Amino acid sequence: MDFQDFTIPAYRKLLKSVKDGWDFVTALDSRKPGRICFWRHDVDFSLERAYRLAEIETEQGVVSTYFINLHSRFYNPLESESSALIHEILKMGHSIGLHFDPSFYTVSPDGRWRPNSALEHERNILSTLFCTNVDAFSVHNPGTTDFLRLDVDELGGMVNVYGPYFKNNFVYCSDSNGFWQDRRLEDVLKLRQHTKLHILTHPGWWSEFPLSPRERVKQSIETRARRTMELYDQTLRQFGRKNIG
Ligand SMILES: [Zn+2]
Repeated sequence: MDFQDFTIPAYRKLLKSVKDGWDFVTALDSRKPGRICFWRHDVDFSLERAYRLAEIETEQGVVSTYFINLHSRFYNPLESESSALIHEILKMGHSIGLHFDPSFYTVSPDGRWRPNSALEHERNILSTLFCTNVDAFSVHNPGTTDFLRLDVDELGGMVNVYGPYFKNNFVYCSDSNGFWQDRRLEDVLKLRQHTKLHILTHPGWWSEFPLSPRERVKQSIETRARRTMELYDQTLRQFGRKNIG
């Protein structure tokens, strides 16, 4: 498998090709006529990588939407460092959406959560924390849930990017699991025949140098673990406490 596709230089090239033939839009503008591209990132593994991609997009003069998961096991958007990264992404002019993980609610023992209330609840957390509108949601692992219906265009006051409107009007290209699912994005862009593009990337898959998908995830996990350890050591130093171990 060719890992060259998922490097920062390759990312830059893809953005340039889209910019040459399509206008970048948010989910709210997805009904705009003409050649448009809704480029979204589902942030599954790394907000640091999300920030890096946001920088490159800004350098290219384009905007995209970063979908944030409140229940990720790989990052916590409520931590101050992570939250600062999201604020920075917003400052660059990008949008955020909700990356909704229904599995969190299906394990809830009291069954009090309904899809609408769960979505609204998470939308409120994100929009209050980051002082911004959250207009769209994407479902994490959409094929594995029956908690909510995906055959509607709107739910919880947000655009469902897996809804029928997107499905029926956009050509979809995704890097899920660290490789192009159907066709390579580069090949889709070369054809230039599609008017409406829906591109899904996961920032964790995009690295400075070619790496296998597992290596890329491993790197994200190890960087975070190292930082947490450093924070522990630094806190003890700061308060003049003994660091035993
Ligand atoms: Zn996801």
